[in-house]
Amino acid sequence: MRAITLLPGIANSARLDDIAEPPISDGTILVRTLTLGVCGTDREIVSGAFGEAPPGSERLVLGHESFGEVIDAPGDSGFVKGDRIVGIVRRPDPVPCPACAAGEWDMCRNGRYTERGIKGLDGYGAERFRIEPAFAVKVDAALGILGVLTEPTSIVAKAWAQVERIGRRSHSWRPRKLLVTGSGPIGLLAALIGMQRGFKTHILDRSADGPIPTLVRDLGATHHAGQVSDLAGLDPDVVMECTGAPAVIGGVMGFTAPGGIVCLLGIGGPHEIKFDVGGLNRTMVLDNNVVFGSVNANRDHYDMAADVLSRADPRWLGRLISRRVPLERWDEALQQRPDDIKVIVDFATESHGPGR
Ligand code: BGC
Repeated sequence: MRAITLLPGIANSARLDDIAEPPISDGTILVRTLTLGVCGTDREIVSGAFGEAPPGSERLVLGHESFGEVIDAPGDSGFVKGDRIVGIVRRPDPVPCPACAAGEWDMCRNGRYTERGIKGLDGYGAERFRIEPAFAVKVDAALGILGVLTEPTSIVAKAWAQVERIGRRSHSWRPRKLLVTGSGPIGLLAALIGMQRGFKTHILDRSADGPIPTLVRDLGATHHAGQVSDLAGLDPDVVMECTGAPAVIGGVMGFTAPGGIVCLLGIGGPHEIKFDVGGLNRTMVLDNNVVFGSVNANRDHYDMAADVLSRADPRWLGRLISRRVPLERWDEALQQRPDDIKVIVDFATESHGPGR
Protein backbone atom coordinates (compact mmCIF):
# COMPACT_ATOMS: atom_id res chain seq x y z
CA MET A 1 0.00 0.00 0.00
CA ARG A 2 1.05 3.58 -0.47
CA ALA A 3 2.27 5.66 2.48
CA ILE A 4 4.13 8.92 3.08
CA THR A 5 7.38 7.96 4.83
CA LEU A 6 10.62 9.72 5.76
CA LEU A 7 13.92 9.33 7.58
CA PRO A 8 13.55 11.33 10.82
CA GLY A 9 16.27 13.93 11.22
CA ILE A 10 17.04 13.99 7.48
CA ALA A 11 15.62 16.90 5.51
CA ASN A 12 13.86 16.16 2.22
CA SER A 13 13.86 12.40 2.77
CA ALA A 14 10.05 12.18 2.57
CA ARG A 15 8.61 10.15 -0.30
CA LEU A 16 5.49 8.33 -1.39
CA ASP A 17 6.49 4.79 -0.48
CA ASP A 18 5.19 1.29 -1.02
CA ILE A 19 5.01 -0.41 2.37
CA ALA A 20 3.61 -3.62 3.89
CA GLU A 21 0.01 -3.83 5.13
CA PRO A 22 -0.32 -2.62 8.76
CA PRO A 23 0.63 -5.32 11.30
CA ILE A 24 -2.06 -6.73 13.59
CA SER A 25 0.13 -5.62 16.50
CA ASP A 26 -0.96 -2.03 15.69
CA GLY A 27 -4.53 -2.89 16.69
CA THR A 28 -7.58 -5.00 15.88
CA ILE A 29 -9.44 -2.33 13.91
CA LEU A 30 -8.50 -2.02 10.24
CA VAL A 31 -9.14 1.41 8.75
CA ARG A 32 -9.10 2.77 5.22
CA THR A 33 -7.69 6.29 5.26
CA LEU A 34 -9.95 8.83 3.61
CA THR A 35 -8.00 11.95 4.26
CA LEU A 36 -5.06 13.26 6.31
CA GLY A 37 -4.57 16.73 7.73
CA VAL A 38 -1.17 18.40 7.61
CA CYS A 39 0.14 20.81 10.26
CA GLY A 40 3.27 22.69 11.32
CA THR A 41 4.51 19.63 13.22
CA ASP A 42 4.45 17.59 9.98
CA ARG A 43 6.40 20.30 8.18
CA GLU A 44 8.97 20.31 11.00
CA ILE A 45 9.29 16.52 10.79
CA VAL A 46 9.76 16.66 7.01
CA SER A 47 12.38 19.40 7.44
CA GLY A 48 14.36 17.00 9.67
CA ALA A 49 13.90 19.06 12.84
CA PHE A 50 11.66 16.64 14.70
CA GLY A 51 10.37 13.06 14.68
CA GLU A 52 11.52 9.57 15.65
CA ALA A 53 11.10 6.27 13.75
CA PRO A 54 9.62 3.20 15.47
CA PRO A 55 12.25 0.97 17.14
CA GLY A 56 13.87 -1.29 14.55
CA SER A 57 12.87 0.77 11.54
CA GLU A 58 14.66 3.50 9.69
CA ARG A 59 11.65 5.26 8.23
CA LEU A 60 8.61 6.78 9.91
CA VAL A 61 5.14 6.84 8.36
CA LEU A 62 4.07 10.49 8.63
CA GLY A 63 0.65 11.77 9.67
CA HIS A 64 -1.24 12.29 12.92
CA GLU A 65 -4.41 14.12 11.78
CA SER A 66 -6.32 11.08 10.62
CA PHE A 67 -9.76 10.42 9.24
CA GLY A 68 -10.85 7.06 7.89
CA GLU A 69 -13.48 4.41 7.50
CA VAL A 70 -13.50 1.13 9.43
CA ILE A 71 -13.05 -1.82 7.05
CA ASP A 72 -12.91 -4.50 9.69
CA ALA A 73 -13.44 -4.57 13.46
CA PRO A 74 -13.96 -7.35 16.02
CA GLY A 75 -17.55 -7.82 17.25
CA ASP A 76 -16.75 -6.68 20.79
CA SER A 77 -14.75 -3.57 19.80
CA GLY A 78 -17.65 -1.11 19.80
CA PHE A 79 -16.91 -0.32 16.14
CA VAL A 80 -18.50 -1.69 12.97
CA LYS A 81 -17.58 -1.64 9.30
CA GLY A 82 -18.36 1.75 7.79
CA ASP A 83 -17.83 3.78 11.02
CA ARG A 84 -15.95 7.02 10.48
CA ILE A 85 -13.08 7.28 12.90
CA VAL A 86 -10.10 9.35 13.96
CA GLY A 87 -7.07 7.87 15.71
CA ILE A 88 -5.76 9.33 18.96
CA VAL A 89 -2.15 10.51 18.51
CA ARG A 90 -0.40 9.78 21.81
CA ARG A 91 0.10 6.46 23.63
CA PRO A 92 0.97 6.24 27.35
CA ASP A 93 4.57 5.72 28.39
CA PRO A 94 5.52 2.12 29.31
CA VAL A 95 6.32 2.78 32.98
CA PRO A 96 3.59 4.25 33.20
CA CYS A 97 3.91 7.58 35.01
CA PRO A 98 0.97 8.52 37.29
CA ALA A 99 -0.60 10.67 34.55
CA CYS A 100 -0.39 8.01 31.83
CA ALA A 101 -1.64 5.38 34.31
CA ALA A 102 -4.75 7.51 34.78
CA GLY A 103 -5.41 7.86 31.04
CA GLU A 104 -3.97 11.39 31.03
CA TRP A 105 -1.18 10.64 28.55
CA ASP A 106 -1.43 14.25 27.38
CA MET A 107 0.06 15.16 30.79
CA CYS A 108 2.85 12.52 30.64
CA ARG A 109 5.51 13.30 33.24
CA ASN A 110 8.50 11.27 32.09
CA GLY A 111 8.48 12.15 28.38
CA ARG A 112 8.54 8.48 27.39
CA TYR A 113 5.14 8.64 25.66
CA THR A 114 4.97 7.76 21.98
CA GLU A 115 2.97 9.53 19.23
CA ARG A 116 1.74 8.11 15.95
CA GLY A 117 3.43 9.81 13.04
CA ILE A 118 5.65 11.84 15.36
CA LYS A 119 7.54 9.92 18.02
CA GLY A 120 8.37 6.21 17.87
CA LEU A 121 5.18 4.98 16.17
CA ASP A 122 4.14 4.91 12.53
CA GLY A 123 1.54 7.51 11.64
CA TYR A 124 -1.76 7.48 9.82
CA GLY A 125 -0.45 8.66 6.43
CA ALA A 126 -0.93 5.27 4.79
CA GLU A 127 -3.78 3.91 2.66
CA ARG A 128 -4.68 1.61 5.55
CA PHE A 129 -3.82 1.62 9.23
CA ARG A 130 -4.67 -0.47 12.26
CA ILE A 131 -5.65 0.87 15.65
CA GLU A 132 -6.66 -0.38 19.10
CA PRO A 133 -10.34 0.30 19.96
CA ALA A 134 -9.23 2.27 23.05
CA PHE A 135 -7.47 4.79 20.79
CA ALA A 136 -10.10 5.12 18.07
CA VAL A 137 -12.72 7.87 18.22
CA LYS A 138 -16.01 7.64 16.37
CA VAL A 139 -17.01 10.80 14.52
CA ASP A 140 -20.40 11.86 13.22
CA ALA A 141 -20.69 10.52 9.64
CA ALA A 142 -22.74 13.62 8.74
CA LEU A 143 -19.54 15.69 9.08
CA GLY A 144 -18.04 14.01 6.00
CA ILE A 145 -14.38 14.89 5.55
CA LEU A 146 -14.69 17.62 8.19
CA GLY A 147 -14.01 14.77 10.63
CA VAL A 148 -10.33 15.39 9.79
CA LEU A 149 -10.56 18.49 12.00
CA THR A 150 -11.11 16.32 15.10
CA GLU A 151 -7.42 16.04 16.05
CA PRO A 152 -6.61 19.77 15.89
CA THR A 153 -9.91 20.47 17.69
CA SER A 154 -8.90 18.03 20.45
CA ILE A 155 -5.83 20.19 21.13
CA VAL A 156 -7.98 23.28 21.78
CA ALA A 157 -10.66 21.26 23.60
CA LYS A 158 -7.96 20.25 26.07
CA ALA A 159 -6.79 23.84 26.41
CA TRP A 160 -10.35 24.98 27.14
CA ALA A 161 -10.91 22.17 29.65
CA GLN A 162 -7.75 23.27 31.46
CA VAL A 163 -8.76 26.95 31.44
CA GLU A 164 -12.11 26.02 32.96
CA ARG A 165 -10.49 23.89 35.66
CA ILE A 166 -8.05 26.66 36.54
CA GLY A 167 -10.91 29.16 36.55
CA ARG A 168 -12.70 27.16 39.23
CA ARG A 169 -10.03 28.26 41.74
CA SER A 170 -12.32 31.28 42.26
CA HIS A 171 -16.00 30.55 42.83
CA SER A 172 -17.06 33.88 41.39
CA TRP A 173 -15.08 33.88 38.11
CA ARG A 174 -17.45 34.51 35.20
CA PRO A 175 -15.24 34.99 32.14
CA ARG A 176 -16.82 36.82 29.22
CA LYS A 177 -14.09 38.06 26.92
CA LEU A 178 -11.66 35.94 24.92
CA LEU A 179 -8.59 37.02 22.97
CA VAL A 180 -7.06 34.53 20.54
CA THR A 181 -3.67 35.41 19.09
CA GLY A 182 -2.97 33.72 15.77
CA SER A 183 -5.42 32.76 13.07
CA GLY A 184 -4.19 29.36 11.92
CA PRO A 185 -6.42 26.30 12.39
CA ILE A 186 -5.64 26.12 16.13
CA GLY A 187 -6.49 29.80 16.68
CA LEU A 188 -9.69 29.59 14.65
CA LEU A 189 -10.82 26.40 16.40
CA ALA A 190 -10.02 27.95 19.81
CA ALA A 191 -12.22 30.89 18.78
CA LEU A 192 -14.98 28.52 17.63
CA ILE A 193 -15.07 26.92 21.09
CA GLY A 194 -15.03 30.39 22.66
CA MET A 195 -18.10 31.36 20.60
CA GLN A 196 -19.84 28.11 21.54
CA ARG A 197 -19.14 28.92 25.21
CA GLY A 198 -20.72 32.38 24.77
CA PHE A 199 -17.51 34.44 24.90
CA LYS A 200 -17.17 37.80 23.22
CA THR A 201 -14.33 36.67 21.00
CA HIS A 202 -11.47 38.70 19.50
CA ILE A 203 -8.80 37.37 17.17
CA LEU A 204 -5.48 39.15 16.72
CA ASP A 205 -3.82 38.43 13.41
CA ARG A 206 -0.71 39.69 11.62
CA SER A 207 -2.55 41.04 8.61
CA ALA A 208 -5.93 42.33 7.48
CA ASP A 209 -5.65 40.63 4.05
CA GLY A 210 -6.68 37.21 2.78
CA PRO A 211 -9.67 35.05 3.75
CA ILE A 212 -9.23 35.22 7.55
CA PRO A 213 -10.97 38.52 8.43
CA THR A 214 -14.21 37.41 6.73
CA LEU A 215 -13.97 33.95 8.26
CA VAL A 216 -13.59 35.53 11.71
CA ARG A 217 -16.53 37.88 11.16
CA ASP A 218 -18.71 35.02 9.87
CA LEU A 219 -17.99 33.19 13.11
CA GLY A 220 -19.38 36.20 14.96
CA ALA A 221 -15.99 37.21 16.36
CA THR A 222 -14.00 40.45 15.95
CA HIS A 223 -10.86 40.53 13.81
CA HIS A 224 -7.92 42.78 14.65
CA ALA A 225 -4.75 43.16 12.61
CA GLY A 226 -1.63 44.44 14.36
CA GLN A 227 0.10 43.97 17.69
CA VAL A 228 -1.07 43.15 21.19
CA SER A 229 -0.27 46.71 22.31
CA ASP A 230 -2.87 48.00 19.78
CA LEU A 231 -5.54 46.28 21.91
CA ALA A 232 -4.80 48.19 25.12
CA GLY A 233 -7.93 48.32 27.29
CA LEU A 234 -9.47 45.14 25.86
CA ASP A 235 -9.02 43.34 29.22
CA PRO A 236 -9.72 39.76 28.09
CA ASP A 237 -10.52 37.20 30.79
CA VAL A 238 -8.96 34.42 28.74
CA VAL A 239 -6.15 34.53 26.18
CA MET A 240 -5.42 31.59 23.89
CA GLU A 241 -1.94 32.24 22.50
CA CYS A 242 -1.61 30.26 19.27
CA THR A 243 1.32 31.95 17.46
CA GLY A 244 4.31 30.75 19.51
CA ALA A 245 5.92 34.07 18.55
CA PRO A 246 8.01 35.51 21.42
CA ALA A 247 6.88 39.11 20.81
CA VAL A 248 3.21 38.08 20.98
CA ILE A 249 3.79 35.89 24.04
CA GLY A 250 5.57 38.80 25.75
CA GLY A 251 2.61 41.01 24.84
CA VAL A 252 -0.16 38.78 26.20
CA MET A 253 1.42 37.85 29.52
CA GLY A 254 -0.09 40.17 32.11
CA PHE A 255 -2.47 41.56 29.47
CA THR A 256 -5.64 40.02 30.94
CA ALA A 257 -8.25 41.45 33.26
CA PRO A 258 -7.56 40.62 36.96
CA GLY A 259 -7.89 36.89 37.62
CA GLY A 260 -7.27 36.24 33.94
CA ILE A 261 -5.82 33.11 32.38
CA VAL A 262 -3.35 32.92 29.49
CA CYS A 263 -2.98 29.56 27.76
CA LEU A 264 0.14 29.06 25.61
CA LEU A 265 -0.52 26.68 22.71
CA GLY A 266 2.04 27.57 20.06
CA ILE A 267 5.69 26.66 19.67
CA GLY A 268 8.01 29.10 17.91
CA GLY A 269 11.72 29.20 17.34
CA PRO A 270 14.21 30.77 19.74
CA HIS A 271 14.11 34.52 19.69
CA GLU A 272 15.21 36.91 22.39
CA ILE A 273 13.06 39.87 23.30
CA LYS A 274 13.44 42.57 25.91
CA PHE A 275 11.00 41.80 28.66
CA ASP A 276 10.21 43.41 32.03
CA VAL A 277 10.06 40.35 34.29
CA GLY A 278 9.63 42.50 37.42
CA GLY A 279 6.64 44.28 35.88
CA LEU A 280 5.07 41.00 34.82
CA ASN A 281 5.60 39.55 38.27
CA ARG A 282 3.93 42.54 39.87
CA THR A 283 0.86 42.26 37.62
CA MET A 284 0.63 38.48 38.00
CA VAL A 285 0.84 38.62 41.80
CA LEU A 286 -1.42 41.61 42.39
CA ASP A 287 -4.06 40.41 39.88
CA ASN A 288 -3.97 36.65 40.62
CA ASN A 289 -3.18 35.92 36.98
CA VAL A 290 -2.26 32.54 35.53
CA VAL A 291 -0.12 31.65 32.50
CA PHE A 292 0.09 27.97 31.55
CA GLY A 293 1.08 25.75 28.64
CA SER A 294 -0.99 23.00 27.03
CA VAL A 295 -0.11 20.20 24.61
CA ASN A 296 -1.78 17.15 23.11
CA ALA A 297 -5.12 15.65 24.18
CA ASN A 298 -6.54 12.60 25.92
CA ARG A 299 -9.62 10.57 25.08
CA ASP A 300 -12.02 12.97 26.87
CA HIS A 301 -10.74 15.84 24.74
CA TYR A 302 -11.30 13.93 21.48
CA ASP A 303 -14.86 13.26 22.60
CA MET A 304 -15.27 16.96 23.38
CA ALA A 305 -13.82 17.80 19.94
CA ALA A 306 -16.25 15.47 18.17
CA ASP A 307 -19.08 17.25 20.02
CA VAL A 308 -17.76 20.75 19.19
CA LEU A 309 -17.56 19.88 15.47
CA SER A 310 -21.01 18.33 15.35
CA ARG A 311 -22.49 21.54 16.82
CA ALA A 312 -20.58 23.90 14.48
CA ASP A 313 -21.81 25.29 11.17
CA PRO A 314 -20.47 22.80 8.58
CA ARG A 315 -20.20 25.54 5.93
CA TRP A 316 -17.93 27.57 8.18
CA LEU A 317 -15.85 24.51 9.09
CA GLY A 318 -15.58 23.64 5.40
CA ARG A 319 -13.92 26.99 4.75
CA LEU A 320 -11.10 26.04 7.16
CA ILE A 321 -10.06 23.38 4.66
CA SER A 322 -8.40 25.70 2.21
CA ARG A 323 -6.67 23.16 -0.01
CA ARG A 324 -7.17 19.48 -0.86
CA VAL A 325 -4.36 17.61 -2.55
CA PRO A 326 -4.57 14.07 -3.98
CA LEU A 327 -2.14 11.52 -2.52
CA GLU A 328 -0.06 11.47 -5.74
CA ARG A 329 0.77 15.15 -5.11
CA TRP A 330 1.24 14.78 -1.30
CA ASP A 331 4.39 16.95 -1.37
CA GLU A 332 2.36 20.01 -2.40
CA ALA A 333 0.39 19.68 0.83
CA LEU A 334 3.57 20.15 2.83
CA GLN A 335 4.49 23.40 1.10
CA GLN A 336 2.88 26.31 2.87
CA ARG A 337 1.11 28.83 0.63
CA PRO A 338 0.02 32.33 1.65
CA ASP A 339 -3.75 31.70 1.99
CA ASP A 340 -3.49 28.22 3.50
CA ILE A 341 -5.52 27.45 6.58
CA LYS A 342 -5.84 23.65 6.82
CA VAL A 343 -4.43 21.60 3.97
CA ILE A 344 -5.45 17.95 3.62
CA VAL A 345 -4.26 15.03 1.55
CA ASP A 346 -7.02 12.91 -0.01
CA PHE A 347 -6.25 9.21 0.16
CA ALA A 348 -9.62 8.03 -1.16
CA THR A 349 -12.63 9.85 -2.52
CA GLU A 350 -15.29 10.62 0.06
CA SER A 351 -18.53 10.67 -1.85
CA HIS A 352 -20.77 12.56 0.59
CA GLY A 353 -20.79 15.15 3.32
CA PRO A 354 -19.94 18.84 3.35
CA GLY A 355 -16.53 20.39 2.90
CA ARG A 356 -16.02 19.31 -0.68
C1 BGC B 1 0.14 17.29 17.93
C2 BGC B 1 0.14 16.93 19.40
C3 BGC B 1 1.52 16.52 19.81
C4 BGC B 1 2.51 17.61 19.47
C5 BGC B 1 3.94 17.33 19.89
C6 BGC B 1 1.19 18.33 17.66
O1 BGC B 1 1.21 18.65 16.30
O2 BGC B 1 -1.12 17.76 17.52
O3 BGC B 1 -0.79 15.92 19.66
O4 BGC B 1 1.55 16.19 21.18
O5 BGC B 1 2.44 17.89 18.09
O6 BGC B 1 4.48 16.16 19.33
